[in-house]
Amino acid sequence: MGAVLLVTGGSRGIGAAVVARAAAAGWDVCLTYRSDADAAESVVARAREAGVQASAVRADVAVEADVEAAFAAADALGPLGGVVVNAGVVSPKSRVDAMSAARVADMLAINVVGAVVTCREAVRRLSTAHGGRGGSIVLVGSAASRLGSAGEYVDYAASKAAVDTLGLGLAKEVADEGVRVNVVRPGIVDTEIHASGGQPDRVERIGPLVPVGRAGTADEVAAAVAWLLSDEASYCTGSILDVAGGR
Ligand code: NAP
Repeated sequence: MGAVLLVTGGSRGIGAAVVARAAAAGWDVCLTYRSDADAAESVVARAREAGVQASAVRADVAVEADVEAAFAAADALGPLGGVVVNAGVVSPKSRVDAMSAARVADMLAINVVGAVVTCREAVRRLSTAHGGRGGSIVLVGSAASRLGSAGEYVDYAASKAAVDTLGLGLAKEVADEGVRVNVVRPGIVDTEIHASGGQPDRVERIGPLVPVGRAGTADEVAAAVAWLLSDEASYCTGSILDVAGGR
């Protein structure tokens, strides 16, 4: 394939599963992480076992200079061909009437501002209008954008609605510049994100209530992302693909 894929938040969970799938498909991969260097390096080592180039860079997507540095690290591997905008966080359970502005701002800086800045850097490299060769951007949103997450984190759900809209609008903006932009919306997926939001039992509690009767796996989400990245999805842009077990 000979193209580089940048995956934000690729050290754990869905991002790590995307890296594994992408490496198996022949992408050279640059992944970002925020704090867990050991986890990132083990994902890199597994990707290299697939025979591709791989690297990890510490980059907080809420910090513009970090995002720019992450793309520079990806550029060092070769020409960029795709970006998976995956890094995202949830906040502790709270009703809206108890939320501080600081909590909401911190989350939006990662889930929304980080996503927009990541897309900006992606388009600057992929778009034929910027001298690029085209490529594919996949945004990891959430089914929360249509469910609303009442009583849990409506602010997070709203941030993921912004991700849906970012995908829809950006897809139209760059459709004739060789860049496809799509959104994958996971439902409840078995990763550490739930514990990070103070609900370590969330998968166990809510999984059985999903129409298919269980939570999803990171690899099931990664399969959808990998397909949208691939030429098999050549006529898909501006699509929102739910991977949510019917939820
Ligand atoms: P996760 O297991 O908590 O992993 C999050 C990843 O993002 C880690 O690699 C983490 O790096 C990185 N990260 C966190 N904050 C970051 C920041 N500010 N800058 C750069 N990287 C950062 O999460 P996940 O469940 O795989 O979620 C991935 C995406 O799927 C998120 O956008 C999430 O909203 C979405 N999603 C998840 C679910 C679910 O049920 N799991 C459902 C719907 C949507 P460190 O390890 O270094 O901190």
